[in-house]
Amino acid sequence: MVRTRFAPSPTGALHLGNARTAALNWLFARHTGGTFILRFEDTDVQREVEGAEERILEALDWLGLDRDEGPEVGGPSGPYRQSERLELYRAHAERLLAEGQAYHCYCTPEELEARRSRARAAKGELRYDGRCRRRPKSEVDRLVAEGVRPSVRFRVDPGTVRYVDRVRGELTVNGEELGDQVILRSDGRPTYNFAVVVDDLLMEITHVIRGAGHLSNTPKQVLFFAALGAEPPEYLHLPSVLAPGGGKLSKRAGAPAVLEYRELGYHPDGLLNYLSLLSWSSPRGEEVLSRGQLIEEVDLDRIGKANPEIDPDKLRWLSGQHFRRESTERLAAALSLRLGYRFDVDEAQLRRLAEVLRDRILILADADPICALVLPEPSLSVPGARDALADPTAGRVLRGVADRWRDLDRWTRDDLKTALVAVGKEEDFAGRRLYHPVRVALTGAVQGPDVPDLAYILGPVRTLERLLAGAAIAAGLAEGA
Ligand code: GLU
Repeated sequence: MVRTRFAPSPTGALHLGNARTAALNWLFARHTGGTFILRFEDTDVQREVEGAEERILEALDWLGLDRDEGPEVGGPSGPYRQSERLELYRAHAERLLAEGQAYHCYCTPEELEARRSRARAAKGELRYDGRCRRRPKSEVDRLVAEGVRPSVRFRVDPGTVRYVDRVRGELTVNGEELGDQVILRSDGRPTYNFAVVVDDLLMEITHVIRGAGHLSNTPKQVLFFAALGAEPPEYLHLPSVLAPGGGKLSKRAGAPAVLEYRELGYHPDGLLNYLSLLSWSSPRGEEVLSRGQLIEEVDLDRIGKANPEIDPDKLRWLSGQHFRRESTERLAAALSLRLGYRFDVDEAQLRRLAEVLRDRILILADADPICALVLPEPSLSVPGARDALADPTAGRVLRGVADRWRDLDRWTRDDLKTALVAVGKEEDFAGRRLYHPVRVALTGAVQGPDVPDLAYILGPVRTLERLLAGAAIAAGLAEGA
């Protein structure tokens, strides 16, 4: 049974690189009917950021990456926060100590740093020199008496360490190059590599899918697994996601955090689709893939080695493609959330707004100017509006259109348009003479979406009210002229 995990450190927002890792672990678990686990790697207290856990959860929820096990949902191999698992790391370190696979190290961080900087200056060896492997008992007794608390260090013997990455195949490193590894610090906190192995072991993780930055940690982790008498999971390191034009990913370089994409109104399925395309592609060459299709088609064997670059235009386009396929109900609900209480809109209006906007927007923010134009009461006192309504025929146009539209059986965009054209023919108004006063009466502006779309969104009651209000102003202006 496949068990994957996403193991972020709560040190900040969820960015696209990490979100891609989460997405792939989730898709693969869903594809195989396996289990997707969330684990917070929060042992580095100094780097922790207040509220980061909540924001990561919110971002995962928005992307629809639900957890089968994790800090908020629980599960059989919890707790799912490393800070709550310290006892487990200690017990496993004790076991390695008892078996002679690890030893106490009394070198203090200050001493180690001093030795390393000397070595750096002399361009010498930076690895741990194994001093505490050989420290005489008398010296150890003295250090203990002085109150020095030891760390626990794992023995890495010379010899070839083999490990396998699904993308890169078999890799090797010499144990000598790694050096003996601290697994438990003197304050009892585990080091990153050890905690990950104890967790992956106890949580029975079958596939570790993570960023390529962790490739160099893998041989150490494989050694810990062997020492604990277990087979390592299958490792797959994803190529790094780069900023547009190459370089490191950052907000400045055009890659905001996941929740910022939510604020801008990207379609979450569009972002999930995009994150998938960064890693693998459908053998059918199809780019727009629904959540279900992504789950069905995800294929770890199609993940390449090349580092993908973020393409913001492609991401926006994909978001739009997912809006095109969205149901009216869901789009109306998303618009309602976005509009909040800023405008007085009812359900029916929201649905009509969704129908008109579905084919026009790439992200919900694209709806903002249209909503701001159509939904508030129009101000007809602005100069452009007054000029349009001062046209001698404006009053007749508005009353004619109002009469026609009032008689419509169905309030559809097609019927609104046909009726509008018919008024133009009947009264011999064309082009601007016809459209201008109607547009101005409905919105107070001289530009915007097609007139039938505007009326369709507003609905019969508001449309007729606005047309007649416009006609009254036009009449007043004609009298005054
Ligand atoms: N906590 C690590 C990170 O945020 C992930 C560790 C792992 O996936 O093995 O990069």
